[in-house]
Amino acid sequence: MQASRQTAEALDSADPLAAIREQFELPPAVIYLDGNSLGPLTAASARAVEHSLRQAWGEQLIKSWNTAGWVDLPRQTGQRIAPLIGAGVDDVLVADSTSVNLYKLLAAALTLSPDRRTILTEAGNFPTDLYVSDAVSQRRPGVQVRRVEADGLLNALDASVAVVVLSHVNYRSGARHDMAAINARAHAVGAVVLWDLAHSAGAIPVDLAGSGADLAIGCGYKFLNGGPGAPAFLYVSPQLQDRLHNPIAGWFGHANPFAFEDHYRPAPGVDRWQVGTPPVLSLASLHAALEPWSAISMADVAQKSVQLFDLMAACFDGPLAGLGFDLITPRQAEARGSQISLRHRHAWPICQALIAEGVVGDFRTPDVLRFGLTPLYLRHVDVWDACERLSQIMATGRWRLPEFQAQHRVT
Ligand SMILES: *Cc1c(COP(=O)(O)O)cnc(C)c1O
Repeated sequence: MQASRQTAEALDSADPLAAIREQFELPPAVIYLDGNSLGPLTAASARAVEHSLRQAWGEQLIKSWNTAGWVDLPRQTGQRIAPLIGAGVDDVLVADSTSVNLYKLLAAALTLSPDRRTILTEAGNFPTDLYVSDAVSQRRPGVQVRRVEADGLLNALDASVAVVVLSHVNYRSGARHDMAAINARAHAVGAVVLWDLAHSAGAIPVDLAGSGADLAIGCGYKFLNGGPGAPAFLYVSPQLQDRLHNPIAGWFGHANPFAFEDHYRPAPGVDRWQVGTPPVLSLASLHAALEPWSAISMADVAQKSVQLFDLMAACFDGPLAGLGFDLITPRQAEARGSQISLRHRHAWPICQALIAEGVVGDFRTPDVLRFGLTPLYLRHVDVWDACERLSQIMATGRWRLPEFQAQHRVT
């Protein structure tokens, strides 16, 4: 694509999502390309948390579990996420972290086929997916995790596989799996698939029900903007809801928690995947952050994501050409999520120098510069300006300054 700042401005004037940006409280001088790691604050979240804190908790105290609907938040928040991932409104629950939900669903899914010996996953999957898969397998004698490269997955799917654990979109490269094809192949050999939608929900169209997905988990604080450490979501297909049991049989997943019975009886539907008392302030934030989505078309989000990507790819092909960058995100829209990842030997100091210039992306080991392309609040000119600043940093060699070399704990 031949791009200029005018091209970007023209795309912004025609952008059907342009007005949504006003609902976000973005710091004025920052170009935020890290919403795939921590989504920004919405005005709605700020209001909801303030209300939950001051009125609901501060004044109404314990009454709010009933009167403010606190107890319904895990399901109501799930209902707001459901249309973004192609799920039925009763099939999504918000609870715990993505990691904990992965543990719960994976351990449960293994009980569907006790004779099968393999958990199949992708080499280079997100660490929590690898670690939790290993840990779950170690508690089941005979069960092993098999890690294969993305292009070997379909071949590796045989009758030994109990569960496939995959990130729909790879956190580092942004490469996306063909969900329908993998579900179909898995079902043909009698396996189930557990999808991690951390980089899909709110980023790209997802059709869990339409693609025959069994199980999914995903993150509340990335593209869904729920706030730091916001609770995660999980999906269980209607066919599996009665057949699977939560391995952490906490009282909130009981059919009637306030009966205080001595023995566990699982709640019907997805409610059994609750464990303990829900984190109300975080839930209120996530629930409110999902408000704008009711008026947003996923097709518009997908189209804008493509345009933002194409602008950044034009930067890679133009001003950044010959400067040691390598584009590792697939260019074909259906083969990627809503991010662009550039590999560079000096990715860390370049990323730090860019942040110092007000462009916030992130670094992923060993050498990846990652930019989240979040259609709800990014303008095309933001991507254009980010490209210009990155080109300048490369031209001036500013990234070589000593202050940009030190590592941080959170990247
Ligand atoms: C961010 C991310 C998670 C996050 O897990 P938490 O339990 O919320 O820390 C899980 N999976 C993937 C693929 C992620 O990118």
